[in-house]
Amino acid sequence: MRSDHATFPLPGKVNWLFLDMNSYFASCEQQAEPRLRGKPVAVVPMMTDATCAIAASYEAKAFGIKTGTKIYDAKRMCPELICVPARHDLYVDYHQQFLKAIDRHIPVTEVKSIDEVACELDKVQQNPDVAVQLARDIKRTIYRDVGEAIRCSIGLSTNGLLAKIATDLQKPDGLVTLMPQDAPGILGKKPLTFIPGIGPGMEKRLLRAGIYTLADLYRLDMKHMRKIWGGVVGERYWYALRGVELPTDPVQKRVVGHSHVLDPEWRPVALAEVVARRLLLKAASRMRRYDMDATRLTLSMRMENTPYSQGARYAIEAHFHRACDNIQLIRHLQHLWHEMVRHHRITRLKKVSLSLHGLVPHASAQMPLFDDGNQVDDALAQRFEKLSFAMDGLNSRFGRDTVTIGSLPSVNHRFSGTKIAFTRIPNLDEFHE
Ligand SMILES: [Mg+2]
Repeated sequence: MRSDHATFPLPGKVNWLFLDMNSYFASCEQQAEPRLRGKPVAVVPMMTDATCAIAASYEAKAFGIKTGTKIYDAKRMCPELICVPARHDLYVDYHQQFLKAIDRHIPVTEVKSIDEVACELDKVQQNPDVAVQLARDIKRTIYRDVGEAIRCSIGLSTNGLLAKIATDLQKPDGLVTLMPQDAPGILGKKPLTFIPGIGPGMEKRLLRAGIYTLADLYRLDMKHMRKIWGGVVGERYWYALRGVELPTDPVQKRVVGHSHVLDPEWRPVALAEVVARRLLLKAASRMRRYDMDATRLTLSMRMENTPYSQGARYAIEAHFHRACDNIQLIRHLQHLWHEMVRHHRITRLKKVSLSLHGLVPHASAQMPLFDDGNQVDDALAQRFEKLSFAMDGLNSRFGRDTVTIGSLPSVNHRFSGTKIAFTRIPNLDEFHE
């Protein structure tokens, strides 16, 4: 989700934290019903021996009972087994509670399932020592705020696949950092089905090709992987097993934008410009998170509905080489804004919209820059970029508007809040921009 191209692992850095709840349904039952704690428990869809366990507590797992075990067999394996009917509302309720606990430490990037989430680490957290401390803090908060019977395994790595695998390496209550260079050694003896996405069918195909363990799989070259999988999926696995982060979303982001209907006191053109600026900074921050640069900026305005303006709409667009930093983008906006205001003699407006498009994968700042003849050298351009990324970092750590450019009146911070970006569904992490 970060970019449209592969991201290769940086030595000594981790990028993802995966969290997987242990024996989730059974743990929820043990949390809600203290009498079940420390006991072998099976969660069942209905109270009959003909059914299967849909979850088993760790105490039941010690008897060999797992998801899918027939209750008839399970009771033979463990006569004191306690069966409880599934209560999905309860599991959803705890789900929301543990999401909240995690969010106290790091935004949840993606909810993978009811008991599993993925969090992308920021620049500071990419340091493995910081990430391990973060993981411990999350565990402590879940223990304190959600409950002592709810435990999780946390995996850290450079991409999602290895981070997820890391959650499976230690259970319950695990915390494992799996670096790509250590993966072949650590996973070598594991069965092929240890890899998420390799099921019994794929395992058979691999066995037929003479691949018996993950060590064998790691010895295959990319071409061979492609052949066995019969396409690009094999190639993706080759990269993913080596910690490379591949784009998951085939639909490339082509535009980021925000719009806002102005409260009456914000409609005078000078104040509306402040709002536009803030919307632009917000869109730019989002674009940088996708690791993209813009080559076009569109500004649209809707006038107030007066007899003179009749709610007219105007739009104007700037084309430029490429830009991702706040200072360059704001200069482009200023040009558009003044052009528009002068040309249409605008004094008050009702709505302002901004979008960045023509997005291309980010490249370091280079000339040419401004179209107004004011050239800026590469070093200065790079400083603008660094400043913008630093602003993103501070705003994401300490809350939006911790740092911004120019004056930002204290009266009203609502105008670019994620809640009012009504044209799309916000990602969770945008609440921290
Ligand atoms: Mg789980």
